[in-house]
Amino acid sequence: MPESDSRGPALAALYQEMILDHYRRPRNKAPLPDADVTVERTNPLCGDLIELSLAFDGDYVRSAAWRGQGCSISSASASMMTQAIVGGTRSHARTVAARFGEMLSGDRKAAVDEALGDLRALSGVARYPMRIKCALLPWSALEEGMGGK
Ligand code: ZN
Repeated sequence: MPESDSRGPALAALYQEMILDHYRRPRNKAPLPDADVTVERTNPLCGDLIELSLAFDGDYVRSAAWRGQGCSISSASASMMTQAIVGGTRSHARTVAARFGEMLSGDRKAAVDEALGDLRALSGVARYPMRIKCALLPWSALEEGMGGK
Protein backbone atom coordinates (compact mmCIF):
# COMPACT_ATOMS: atom_id res chain seq x y z
CA MET A 1 0.00 0.00 0.00
CA PRO A 2 1.44 3.42 -0.93
CA GLU A 3 2.46 5.65 1.95
CA SER A 4 -0.14 8.25 1.16
CA ASP A 5 -2.85 5.63 1.53
CA SER A 6 -1.61 4.39 4.90
CA ARG A 7 -1.81 7.96 6.24
CA GLY A 8 -5.20 8.49 4.65
CA PRO A 9 -7.64 7.10 7.22
CA ALA A 10 -6.15 9.01 10.18
CA LEU A 11 -6.10 12.27 8.25
CA ALA A 12 -9.63 11.69 6.96
CA ALA A 13 -10.81 11.13 10.54
CA LEU A 14 -9.08 14.31 11.72
CA TYR A 15 -10.61 16.31 8.87
CA GLN A 16 -14.05 14.90 9.62
CA GLU A 17 -13.62 15.93 13.24
CA MET A 18 -12.62 19.47 12.21
CA ILE A 19 -15.68 19.77 9.96
CA LEU A 20 -18.00 18.63 12.74
CA ASP A 21 -16.33 20.99 15.21
CA HIS A 22 -16.98 23.98 12.94
CA TYR A 23 -20.53 22.71 12.34
CA ARG A 24 -21.31 22.37 16.06
CA ARG A 25 -19.40 25.45 17.23
CA PRO A 26 -19.51 27.74 14.19
CA ARG A 27 -17.05 30.66 14.24
CA ASN A 28 -18.24 34.16 13.38
CA LYS A 29 -21.87 33.06 13.17
CA ALA A 30 -23.51 36.28 14.32
CA PRO A 31 -25.14 39.44 13.03
CA LEU A 32 -22.78 42.16 11.85
CA PRO A 33 -24.58 45.47 12.55
CA ASP A 34 -21.92 47.63 10.89
CA ALA A 35 -21.63 45.51 7.76
CA ASP A 36 -20.82 47.28 4.51
CA VAL A 37 -22.40 44.52 2.50
CA THR A 38 -24.59 41.49 3.12
CA VAL A 39 -25.12 38.76 0.55
CA GLU A 40 -27.52 35.84 0.73
CA ARG A 41 -27.01 32.62 -1.15
CA THR A 42 -29.05 29.43 -1.26
CA ASN A 43 -28.34 25.96 -2.51
CA PRO A 44 -31.77 24.44 -3.17
CA LEU A 45 -30.28 21.04 -3.95
CA CYS A 46 -29.29 20.66 -0.32
CA GLY A 47 -31.37 23.29 1.45
CA ASP A 48 -28.39 25.39 2.50
CA LEU A 49 -28.83 29.10 3.16
CA ILE A 50 -25.91 31.40 3.89
CA GLU A 51 -26.10 35.10 4.65
CA LEU A 52 -22.62 36.59 4.62
CA SER A 53 -21.85 40.05 5.99
CA LEU A 54 -18.59 41.89 5.42
CA ALA A 55 -17.16 45.09 6.85
CA PHE A 56 -14.15 46.67 5.19
CA ASP A 57 -11.48 49.02 6.41
CA GLY A 58 -9.87 50.36 3.27
CA ASP A 59 -8.43 47.38 1.50
CA TYR A 60 -8.79 45.13 4.55
CA VAL A 61 -11.59 42.78 5.52
CA ARG A 62 -12.20 44.15 9.01
CA SER A 63 -15.01 41.75 9.93
CA ALA A 64 -16.79 38.84 8.34
CA ALA A 65 -19.78 37.11 9.86
CA TRP A 66 -22.47 34.80 8.64
CA ARG A 67 -25.88 33.45 9.49
CA GLY A 68 -28.02 30.75 8.02
CA GLN A 69 -28.60 27.06 8.10
CA GLY A 70 -27.55 24.06 6.18
CA CYS A 71 -25.51 20.92 6.14
CA SER A 72 -22.21 20.38 7.93
CA ILE A 73 -20.24 21.09 4.74
CA SER A 74 -21.75 24.50 3.94
CA SER A 75 -21.66 25.53 7.60
CA ALA A 76 -18.06 24.42 8.18
CA SER A 77 -17.02 26.09 4.93
CA ALA A 78 -18.60 29.40 6.01
CA SER A 79 -17.10 29.15 9.48
CA MET A 80 -13.60 28.36 8.20
CA MET A 81 -13.86 30.95 5.42
CA THR A 82 -14.60 33.83 7.77
CA GLN A 83 -11.65 32.80 9.95
CA ALA A 84 -9.39 32.70 6.91
CA ILE A 85 -10.23 36.15 5.54
CA VAL A 86 -10.75 38.41 8.59
CA GLY A 87 -7.87 40.82 9.04
CA GLY A 88 -6.46 40.18 5.58
CA THR A 89 -6.69 42.22 2.41
CA ARG A 90 -9.35 41.74 -0.23
CA SER A 91 -6.59 40.46 -2.47
CA HIS A 92 -5.67 37.83 0.14
CA ALA A 93 -9.32 36.77 0.38
CA ARG A 94 -9.47 36.37 -3.40
CA THR A 95 -6.27 34.33 -3.39
CA VAL A 96 -7.61 31.99 -0.71
CA ALA A 97 -10.92 31.70 -2.58
CA ALA A 98 -9.14 30.77 -5.81
CA ARG A 99 -6.96 28.19 -4.04
CA PHE A 100 -9.99 26.72 -2.28
CA GLY A 101 -11.73 26.39 -5.66
CA GLU A 102 -8.69 24.60 -7.07
CA MET A 103 -8.70 22.22 -4.12
CA LEU A 104 -12.35 21.36 -4.74
CA SER A 105 -11.54 20.77 -8.40
CA GLY A 106 -9.25 17.99 -7.23
CA ASP A 107 -5.92 19.87 -7.29
CA ARG A 108 -3.76 17.76 -4.97
CA LYS A 109 -1.19 20.49 -4.41
CA ALA A 110 -3.92 22.86 -3.24
CA ALA A 111 -5.15 20.14 -0.86
CA VAL A 112 -1.85 20.30 1.05
CA ASP A 113 -1.27 24.08 0.68
CA GLU A 114 -0.67 25.54 4.14
CA ALA A 115 -2.17 28.81 2.93
CA LEU A 116 -5.56 27.11 3.19
CA GLY A 117 -5.16 26.23 6.87
CA ASP A 118 -8.22 24.49 8.33
CA LEU A 119 -9.95 24.73 4.97
CA ARG A 120 -7.91 21.71 3.88
CA ALA A 121 -10.29 19.66 6.01
CA LEU A 122 -12.80 20.10 3.18
CA SER A 123 -10.47 18.64 0.54
CA GLY A 124 -12.34 15.31 0.54
CA VAL A 125 -15.44 17.10 -0.72
CA ALA A 126 -13.78 17.20 -4.17
CA ARG A 127 -14.85 13.58 -4.60
CA TYR A 128 -18.54 14.39 -4.12
CA PRO A 129 -19.89 16.71 -6.85
CA MET A 130 -23.18 17.28 -5.01
CA ARG A 131 -21.33 18.50 -1.93
CA ILE A 132 -18.99 20.80 -3.85
CA LYS A 133 -21.93 23.19 -4.28
CA CYS A 134 -22.39 23.16 -0.49
CA ALA A 135 -18.72 23.94 0.13
CA LEU A 136 -18.61 26.74 -2.45
CA LEU A 137 -21.83 28.47 -1.33
CA PRO A 138 -20.23 30.89 1.17
CA TRP A 139 -17.42 31.62 -1.30
CA SER A 140 -19.93 32.56 -3.94
CA ALA A 141 -21.39 35.03 -1.46
CA LEU A 142 -17.88 36.31 -0.71
CA GLU A 143 -17.15 36.92 -4.37
CA GLU A 144 -20.28 39.02 -4.78
CA GLY A 145 -19.69 40.79 -1.47
CA MET A 146 -16.26 41.88 -2.60
CA GLY A 147 -17.60 43.18 -5.87
CA GLY A 148 -16.91 40.27 -8.16
CA LYS A 149 -13.55 39.42 -9.64
ZN1 ZN B 1 -25.28 21.34 1.83
